[in-house]
Amino acid sequence: MAGNTASGIITKGVGGAYTVKTCDSPPRFFTCKARGVFRNRKIMPLIGDRVEITIADEKTATIHEIKPRDNELRRPPAANISQVIITVATTRPPFNPGLLDRLLVMVEHEQIPVVICVNKIDLEPRRENPPLQKNFEIYEGAGYRVVYASATGEIGLEELRRVMAGKVNLFAGPSGVGKSSLINALAPGMRLETGELSTKIGRGKHTTRHTEIFPLGETDADGYCFDTPGFTSLDITHIEKPELALLFREFRPFTGECKFKNCAHINETECAVKAQIGDAIHPARYESYVNLCTKS
Ligand code: GDP
Ligand code: ZN
Repeated sequence: MAGNTASGIITKGVGGAYTVKTCDSPPRFFTCKARGVFRNRKIMPLIGDRVEITIADEKTATIHEIKPRDNELRRPPAANISQVIITVATTRPPFNPGLLDRLLVMVEHEQIPVVICVNKIDLEPRRENPPLQKNFEIYEGAGYRVVYASATGEIGLEELRRVMAGKVNLFAGPSGVGKSSLINALAPGMRLETGELSTKIGRGKHTTRHTEIFPLGETDADGYCFDTPGFTSLDITHIEKPELALLFREFRPFTGECKFKNCAHINETECAVKAQIGDAIHPARYESYVNLCTKS
């Protein structure tokens, strides 16, 4: 086997030793070191990197090439995330649209496809709660896919699997909404620690876990998922204001149509974005936009 090469994906990295799962079927797993050349160029291999390896023996190999990345995240340190699943709860904690809009802006800024998962649907079945449904119809109207689920009630998990198929998925969203529970429900072997809000606060900050991606099925086509929830909130102060409107996806078709080229879509006259409020743009989403503009 010496001198053989293979393509694969980094699924795990601990102290400079990377686990690479090859793309062939059935997949093979190798413990790999990165070639020194990456260190010299200050390129750190990341979980999710698509790589070429040179096989040394049945278990070990060297990473000799890292393919260009589609994207890169700092929390968790990862590359090529093909979908972020922003998770919120119907209640406990109460739904906070401003926070959801902020997370959406951040993921749009990273140009990563995003879907919204509304968890804990068992606590408020949709048909019995039209106002709840209205909250999320706003997002469907804006062009987002919304999946309703219950991790503990095992509702919507099949739909979630279908949405996650063929992608490298990362759950993100506020603390306590059930991200760890969903990961556990999708991969019972993972057994992530879950907890009530109150018991989780104040611990866990200093414990480092090694992030890993796990396959959602037998083949690459089933997709992968990070075994750890990603960001719970993100700093968006570095996003320039003119960009902000573009990160509200349903504003995009109109941002170029305003009278003033630098229109901030707030106080200007003949603003094509404001003209759509109540039409293509929901007032609540516009309000979030104004809040983010004035706070950041
Ligand atoms: P995380 O902080 O987003 O990872 O949330 P956890 O997965 O730790 O869940 C927080 C709490 O919500 C735990 O007590 C879970 O048992 C509970 N929980 C998670 N999913 C559901 C659900 O679908 N329905 C209900 N009723 N409780 C849930
Ligand atoms: Zn405008």
